[in-house]
Amino acid sequence: MSRFDTQASLPRAEAEQIVARSVDAGQLERRLAERLAAQFCDPIVREVVLEGAAESKRRGKGDIVSVSRNVFIPLTNLCRNRCAYCTFAKLPDSPEAKTYTLREVEEAVRVAVPMGCREALLCLGDKPEIAYHSYREWLAHNELRDTTDYLVRACRIAFEGGILPHTNAGILSEREMAELRPWNASMGLMLESTSARLRGKNMAHYYSPDKDPDLRIRMHEQAGQLRIPFTSGILLGIGESAVERIDTLLAIRDLDDRYGHIQEVIVQPFHPKADTPMAASDLLADEEVAAWVAIARLILGPEMNVQAPPNLAPSALELLLRSGLNDWGGISPVTVDFINPEAPWPELETLRKRTEAAGQRLVERLPVYPPYLLDRPDFFEPRVREAALAQADPSGFARTRATGTGVEAA
Ligand code: SF4
Repeated sequence: MSRFDTQASLPRAEAEQIVARSVDAGQLERRLAERLAAQFCDPIVREVVLEGAAESKRRGKGDIVSVSRNVFIPLTNLCRNRCAYCTFAKLPDSPEAKTYTLREVEEAVRVAVPMGCREALLCLGDKPEIAYHSYREWLAHNELRDTTDYLVRACRIAFEGGILPHTNAGILSEREMAELRPWNASMGLMLESTSARLRGKNMAHYYSPDKDPDLRIRMHEQAGQLRIPFTSGILLGIGESAVERIDTLLAIRDLDDRYGHIQEVIVQPFHPKADTPMAASDLLADEEVAAWVAIARLILGPEMNVQAPPNLAPSALELLLRSGLNDWGGISPVTVDFINPEAPWPELETLRKRTEAAGQRLVERLPVYPPYLLDRPDFFEPRVREAALAQADPSGFARTRATGTGVEAA
């Protein structure tokens, strides 16, 4: 039982006062966030929080909701961790184990460019060379020092092929991030949760040393020191409490306060999958997901880019559009969501129509957000910024066809 379960109810007027003050202040503090979240079982409190978050988003982002047209390249699905909810990672002897060749990376880029993709999402398992002899042999056979060495080559292929790389390769050292920075427009690591409890026996991260919250916070700090536009996020529903969710969001806010490098925060619900130790876990209700997107907006403030993946709540897009998000994340016209393969992407045109029906406007973005691209040249290798600017309109979003619908790539 969470400590929230014992708190007294929250009258609507008090909830409205807390939310209104937080919207005006530009952030929601821990004690008040806990007070609101403790009453998320009350639809009136949830509605008040959603309304406040929508107002905060309107003040910071206007009517814009962005989306990135990407190609997802899972360079390898080998991983040294075994998160209890994951179906992405495979063992080397699995028929589904897959490490891309550089020729396959080239081919993926070649297919994605004419489809208007702007982002090559290089998402892969954590340091498989630590766990698997066969993978170490494969690296040696290909004269590669480690996975980072391989990633640098793959990013370079994507970049030179006309797509801006965004790497999410799990825990990387400062040196490894420095090696990748010259070929990446941005990089990322979901903080997921600050809860060290989740590393305990029978918990989601028991067999996952790279999910140590301190390690993940340290990588966020190093990315900030290296001035890398950085994507973080929270994973909902893997055994954490409401207090721990708030702590995670506050940790991300603190990192951005210190380094100014958190370009977006993903609020991602966990989807239970068959054949995993967490197959029987509850799926979060869409109302709960939307309430947490809204709390994220209120905690992180009007300027932060708050993202919720539309394929993980396909019947609740209108609800999410009222929750303060301003980004749908990456949508691929050429590849599936390899992390949640059971959840197909919506068509961009469908997403545009539903976003517009909610009184907002869908715009296509690059894998880096306009304020970094336009105002912070120190966050980029010059050639990467130059390539990104060449694909951007004057507002820093992706350039569109003059006759297009607003989501058509140039
Ligand atoms: S670190 Fe990522 S890829 Fe590896 S097991 Fe965990 S969720 Fe799966």
